[in-house]
Amino acid sequence: MALTFLRGIQINPSMLYPSSYFARKHGVLYCCMRSAQTQTATQEKEQTKLKVSTQSQPKAVDKYLKDYEAVIGIETHVQLSTLTKAFCSCPYNYGSPPNTSVCPVCMGLPGALPVLNSKVIECAVRVGLALNCKLSMNSKFDRKQYFYPDLPKGYQISQFDIPIATGGYLDVDLPLEYGGGHRKFGITRVHMEEDAGKLLHTDGGSYSQERTLSHLNIRMDIDFLGFLIQVDLNRAGVPLLEIVSEPDMRTGIEAAEYASELQRLVRYLGVSNGNMQEGSLRCDVNISVRPIGQLEFGTKVEIKNLNSFSSVSRAIDYEISRQVQLHSQGQVDQIVQETRLWEEGAQKTVTMRKKEGLADYRYFPEPDLPGVTLTEEYVDNIRESLPELPEDKRRRYEKMGLSMQDVLFLANDNNIADFFDTTIAGGADVKLAANWIMGDIAAYMKNEKVTINEIKLTPQELGELIASIKDGTISGKIGKEVITLRVMI
Ligand SMILES: [Zn+2]
Repeated sequence: MALTFLRGIQINPSMLYPSSYFARKHGVLYCCMRSAQTQTATQEKEQTKLKVSTQSQPKAVDKYLKDYEAVIGIETHVQLSTLTKAFCSCPYNYGSPPNTSVCPVCMGLPGALPVLNSKVIECAVRVGLALNCKLSMNSKFDRKQYFYPDLPKGYQISQFDIPIATGGYLDVDLPLEYGGGHRKFGITRVHMEEDAGKLLHTDGGSYSQERTLSHLNIRMDIDFLGFLIQVDLNRAGVPLLEIVSEPDMRTGIEAAEYASELQRLVRYLGVSNGNMQEGSLRCDVNISVRPIGQLEFGTKVEIKNLNSFSSVSRAIDYEISRQVQLHSQGQVDQIVQETRLWEEGAQKTVTMRKKEGLADYRYFPEPDLPGVTLTEEYVDNIRESLPELPEDKRRRYEKMGLSMQDVLFLANDNNIADFFDTTIAGGADVKLAANWIMGDIAAYMKNEKVTINEIKLTPQELGELIASIKDGTISGKIGKEVITLRVMI
């Protein structure tokens, strides 16, 4: 079947997945699906364990905190792990030498035209459904105009007034060490957009030579006051989902757990590796404080560049204390609408820039891309292909009689959950299987820095071992020795 694209651009077939194709009818792009195959995302080797602290609050503010309520919302950018970028056939691999994965489209050269990667739509629909959102069956892309050297076109392709998904929620179970409990946080919207490039600040040394596109003899750098600022466009055009929460969180822990659950969700769905250190999942938080009982929101402050769950939690707790302190000292007027940065070393937030009114991005519909229409069949196929989601898994494990501590551990990583599920599917005792996985096996994985997929022991072997200990064939002590040997050999 001929694939119909705008202006008949010749595209690299590798950018299209066999599972879906586009058809253009009456000037509108239709997404259709042939099968329910999904791409497996690279799984991060080490799960980032959430560590949060409440130590960052100045003692003098403690007595006032109970009189105030913080209102927190989070905007999360999730980089999709598609094989190619959103609108061209360039691949994206984190850490590649600068400007080695670029083409006229993602470099924004005149006359180059975007062609949508159908996988971006599929990922967006998967996330929208998993977040219990309402999908827009007819959506479109828009241009968001702003100038910055890492944005070669002078605009970002995004979605403005018709995001692909709206009005959902995310279920979160708080860790027991922070009091436990279940929370439901609202999702305002999910929209698709493209990432920008990266600026590299150097002192003008030899760095620039190897960072140029030698075969095209293009140097992308800006000499500014003696400092060389270079542009790496590898990341330009990489597909992103921006997920905006409702302002439903009240503490740093809640916000960090929300972000952690979002990471778990995108990994379960296989749409992103969710790695914060590599920038695959980035959080900007908005915080305001108001006296308890007041309906009106306080002045909102934004904190950017939070690259770990622990910094999300600590930056928010610090900012709450700072704002409460200003409230309690009658200096509310000093809380201004601004963007602040979290300084990890000093453990405090500092002003990055004051906001002088809303930026005018002069959005308008992207004329180089057609509207996107989803068919019911396409959405139904994706819905049927969704894996069991973290929340469903936790509730299922809870019903098995496992403690919340066990439930949270096992469901945290979908590979560990799969190992556990396969073990008990063979008839192994549920609690004993959980104990072995959380005990000796987890300890081995932690010491050797390996994932459960990299150990030698199979779920079937673990099941047999548990059965042997249970029926008295071998003792628990021997079982431990066998496990130690079997995970390694
Ligand atoms: Zn490209």
